[in-house]
Amino acid sequence: MLSIYNTLTRKKEEFIPISPDEVRMYVCGPTVYDYFHIGNARSFIMADVLRKYLEYKGYNVKYIMNLTDIDDRIIKKSIEEKIEAKLVAEKYTKAFFDDIEKLKVKQADVYPKATDHVQEIVDFIKQLEEKSFAYNVDGNVFYDVSKFHDYGKLSGKKLVELEAGARVDVNEEKKNPLDFALWKKAKEGEPFWESPWGKGRPGWHIECSAMSGKHLGETFDIHAGGNDLIFPHHENEIAQSEAATKKKFVNYWIHFGFLNINNEKMSKSLGNFFTARDILKHYSAESIRLLFSQTHYRGPLEFNDELLDSSQKGLEKFKNLVEKVSPHPVPLPKGEGVSPDFDFQSYYKDFESAMDDDLNTPQAVAVLFDFVRDVNKAIAEKENLPSEFYSNVKEFLSKTAQGVLGIVDLEKSEAQGSSVEKELIELLIGLRNGARKEKNFALSDKIRNELNELGIELKDSKEGTTYKKVKK
Ligand code: AMP
Ligand code: ZN
Repeated sequence: MLSIYNTLTRKKEEFIPISPDEVRMYVCGPTVYDYFHIGNARSFIMADVLRKYLEYKGYNVKYIMNLTDIDDRIIKKSIEEKIEAKLVAEKYTKAFFDDIEKLKVKQADVYPKATDHVQEIVDFIKQLEEKSFAYNVDGNVFYDVSKFHDYGKLSGKKLVELEAGARVDVNEEKKNPLDFALWKKAKEGEPFWESPWGKGRPGWHIECSAMSGKHLGETFDIHAGGNDLIFPHHENEIAQSEAATKKKFVNYWIHFGFLNINNEKMSKSLGNFFTARDILKHYSAESIRLLFSQTHYRGPLEFNDELLDSSQKGLEKFKNLVEKVSPHPVPLPKGEGVSPDFDFQSYYKDFESAMDDDLNTPQAVAVLFDFVRDVNKAIAEKENLPSEFYSNVKEFLSKTAQGVLGIVDLEKSEAQGSSVEKELIELLIGLRNGARKEKNFALSDKIRNELNELGIELKDSKEGTTYKKVKK
């Protein structure tokens, strides 16, 4: 049974999706005005881990991540770089896709863009206006927070407290400092769309209400994002969606802790950031993901190079094991060999009970390290291991370490290609071994060297010959 901490109720709850086999999940995506930093990456990766664990548990996950492709920051950048806002968004959308792919984040089912949903957003605002939750002041449309009696339920704050905090943001057009823009009137030279209130563009909060409703329905299971989105962004989404539909918007609200540098949140505005693409030049996705998995998703995560170095080192243990178990030189036929007394199920069970406990990834990682240690011990103790043992090891790592946490890349570690390629290489290794037995070293060296030319490195040991694909 999976239990997960729900920001809305402030407690761990059993996770029960609306439809028994399907989970509908929405994660707030990036504003595409720059390369994203490694702090943003923490949120994207932990959302990915949650999604993959739900899939591991057999749910069919419908995963939506929006792209905010029109916003003040994009307009600012377009002025600075003297290019159209649309081109700024296109450039950084492409960069976003490149970077999350490198981080081994699985693609969302849909990446809705705000600018493709202006009609839905306008219709949503019209609905709020008709229900008296919105007011228009000279082309700027605001949400009237005082009309929504549950305002503050997500952040757990009372309206008066929130109002006191919002006084700094005085805007004469607003009735209440907490009111927020649903539609922003276009200033001279800014990109705009036509609307019943004149030329303008959507506010940030409304885009997530409109797009999540369109792609996931009025009520869905999970809404996630970084801690900084609890207030006001997610609070405002609830106010908009529940005012419009009169239904509960989201059942489980999940928020990720900040990635910090010197105990301070990494952010563009503070200038204390590293882009994910820069970090990826020096560290693998697996080491970044291991570092993130070693901290619980809700807690703060202090980030520095030494921590990344040590997670890189930790990964060696997995890599060495993968190399050891695949491709196994002379796999014994199924059923032959001495089966070690190895209880794979207990490791699955321990991995699952860690993950079921509000995604306790640090504990899950500890289970995986124990697994590696115990498999190594079993291999060291017994000689004749059956091929099932090796395939069970790989299957376990593939489902958990790779499939859920993304801290191992079996394909990369095995450094092998398609199964036909693998069979051909093994055929050549067999021929080479035959040549060596016959002391035909000219032929055996030729095979070795020519494979080497193709980027396939052979390694002989007393257990047999293994190979590795090396980048040329
Ligand atoms: P943004 O592009 O600023 O809207 O942020 C994209 C996502 O990254 C959101 O879910 C943010 O909550 C999250 N985020 C921003 N900064 C950090 C940080 N330092 N640590 C973790 N998540 C963050
Ligand atoms: Zn959002």
